[in-house]
Amino acid sequence: MYPHSELCNNDALMADANLMEKIISLAKRRGFVFPGSEIYGGLAGTFDYGPLGVVLKENVERLWLQMFRDDRDDMYGVDATILMNPKVWEASGHVSGFSDPLVECEKCKKRFRPDHLDDPKKCPECEGTLGEVRQFNMMFKTQVGATADESSVVYLRPETAGGIFTNFKNVVDSLHPKLPFGIAQIGKAFRNEIAPRDFIFRLRELSQMEVEYFVKPTDWEQAFEEWRKMMHLFAEAVGLPQGMVHELEVSDGDRAHYSKRTIDFEFDYPFGRKELWGLAYRTDFDLSAHAGASSTELTYLDEETKEKFVPHVIEPSLGVDRTILAILASAYREDDMGGEVRTYLALAPKIAPVKAMVSPLLKNKPELVAKAREVRAELRKIHPGIAWDDNGNIGKRYRRQDEIGTPFCITIDFDTLGEHSELADTVTLRHRDTGEQERLTIPEVAERISSAIQ
Ligand code: ATP
Repeated sequence: MYPHSELCNNDALMADANLMEKIISLAKRRGFVFPGSEIYGGLAGTFDYGPLGVVLKENVERLWLQMFRDDRDDMYGVDATILMNPKVWEASGHVSGFSDPLVECEKCKKRFRPDHLDDPKKCPECEGTLGEVRQFNMMFKTQVGATADESSVVYLRPETAGGIFTNFKNVVDSLHPKLPFGIAQIGKAFRNEIAPRDFIFRLRELSQMEVEYFVKPTDWEQAFEEWRKMMHLFAEAVGLPQGMVHELEVSDGDRAHYSKRTIDFEFDYPFGRKELWGLAYRTDFDLSAHAGASSTELTYLDEETKEKFVPHVIEPSLGVDRTILAILASAYREDDMGGEVRTYLALAPKIAPVKAMVSPLLKNKPELVAKAREVRAELRKIHPGIAWDDNGNIGKRYRRQDEIGTPFCITIDFDTLGEHSELADTVTLRHRDTGEQERLTIPEVAERISSAIQ
């Protein structure tokens, strides 16, 4: 078994000034996250998910879909477009108000968010004087069709919510859901952040998992509490330690104008406590604004009371990328193995990209390889994420799997083949976090994996 070192994700590791660098380096080395357009020198605020990152992202999104949509009878899905009629963003207030303060250096012309600077008058790059603060709209503009005038301007959506509100009537008319009900959507959103930073924390192209939950105006508090609990359950399900997720009740002055109550879920990232997700009570602001601007009735008719009204909305909004960064940062571990450091990701088995790795003890023994292939095929009936590795020695294979957070490694040796008859058809199951090894039958291994990933 491995000793858990002092460094093991305790305060010492979180306070390690190099922790972000270590996470970024591991993410690249092991194929989780790559800088966007890297061979051309990159593009600020963009990152690509690599082979393992894609699976991690899918696992997070699938879990969210399961908990926020599929396990419930009151939730529906949509997949709306990124390009929408620009009137959507006029009505929602984004055209006039989705902006951040911006200052430009008079000398080097670089631009900054003054609220992110120690001295909002002095350029942090060249010490030149910073100009007047002005508002900078964060929506990306593009043009539809061949004409290039103002009438063809459209925006890349800055949040997925717009496509949910514009489909409210379609969902009501097609499926006749009873209130309360919600619409869930996962998708890309785009924000021209003035200063993208902190790896995948502040991106220009990001993914969101959003719910708009429609309720009677009098029922908003109960729904707010339910979704608040759900967000904590989701944090737990993806493996975020309870003590690292905090609620911040956003004060009246700091809330968006449409919100009557907002809680920011914050996370202790290596660079400080920052917003992970948001939960907002948006009143009837959105449906009323879209109804007015589109001249479409966006109401709900209560069949029992015959009352017609505009539903109010609770919105849990979760960034996929910030979730993944929180997962990587809190799962990163270093064990001091007496001079050598063992690095591993203590990922929750449910979201780990690879659930188990199967390998033959020696790759030049055909009988071991054949048996190992057989075991892998058997285990893949439980889950496709059962990997194969026969490169290098067993120690090296374990290290590689540790770094990508594979919870179990399974080794097939001569005893599996029956060298000592009492051990025939048993394998070694090695646990990622402790290094502990057990001798188990193949059905027992299958049972261990299934119960861990449920
Ligand atoms: P911040 O104050 O950090 O800019 P925000 O309050 O503007 O965030 P929201 O508009 O509430 O964020 O967006 C909902 C969620 O989308 C956030 O809680 C976060 O998880 C995610 N998100 C927002 N902006 C970004 C971004 N630039 N990069 C990555 N994720 C983001």
